[in-house]
Amino acid sequence: MEFNELEKKKILYKETTLCYQCGKCSSGCPLVEEMDMFPHIVIHLASLGLEEKVLNTDTIWICASCYACAVKCPNDIEIPGIMNQLKQMAVEKGLKPKRNEIYKFHKTFTGDILRRGKVHEFRIMLEYNLRLGKPFKNAMLGPKMLFKNKLHFTPPKEVKGFRKWLEKANRKG
Ligand code: SF4
Ligand code: SF4
Repeated sequence: MEFNELEKKKILYKETTLCYQCGKCSSGCPLVEEMDMFPHIVIHLASLGLEEKVLNTDTIWICASCYACAVKCPNDIEIPGIMNQLKQMAVEKGLKPKRNEIYKFHKTFTGDILRRGKVHEFRIMLEYNLRLGKPFKNAMLGPKMLFKNKLHFTPPKEVKGFRKWLEKANRKG
């Protein structure tokens, strides 16, 4: 079953109306200090239909979909999914985050994901630094990550079925 844009919005905002503002999502979010709006406020404003406000917050771009908030939510609201959908709506409207480096990271990360369905950490670190014009930013982390086997020079294999899934998603557009 496919949903049109209005139906998607109805589902998205209806889920947010289950929120009773306990704030557990914000208290468990590891990136909250970087955000310009607490996650529970994003959910609250979305439940009120204040779309312009939520689409113009940097929070939706900073959210890393780690799910730390969702596991704490007493109402099982899928906060990361909502953040992702709001970000997608912002992209469709041509909106960008206020902090330029966040947008540069978004472009680097999504560009790399679209190559094989999985990120190549070494490449995104390099590309992001180049986009920032700071090629040696965080260079000291490289040896540490290599030592912990977290950094690989060769890209990972493409996720099985990724191309087909992508084509299907593009057709649904
Ligand atoms: S999914 Fe996003 S909002 Fe939720 S805890 Fe992680 S970074 Fe924060
Ligand atoms: S944890 Fe759930 S119910 Fe509590 S404020 Fe966050 S979204 Fe709302």
